[in-house]
Amino acid sequence: THVVAEPCSGCKYTDCVVVCPVECFYEGEQMLYIHPDECIDCEACVPECPVEAIFHEDNLPSEWESYTQLNADKSEEC
Ligand code: SF4
Repeated sequence: THVVAEPCSGCKYTDCVVVCPVECFYEGEQMLYIHPDECIDCEACVPECPVEAIFHEDNLPSEWESYTQLNADKSEEC
């Protein structure tokens, strides 16, 4: 799955959302989250993100490790 990390916080662009073919982005109060069971790893959203906040979970910078679980939890709540 792909994961939205810290740079998204406070970003109000939704360029990623509109290109996602399976509509798996969910909008939280501070940022967007990707539902891990819905993302098909198509990568369409990655180049669209103006703040480079979206990573494949395997390539997620270690300082943002916790965002994998956060995306899973928050996308369920939204
Ligand atoms: Fe949606 Fe594809 Fe991005 Fe996953 S990788 S969130 S399916 S656009």
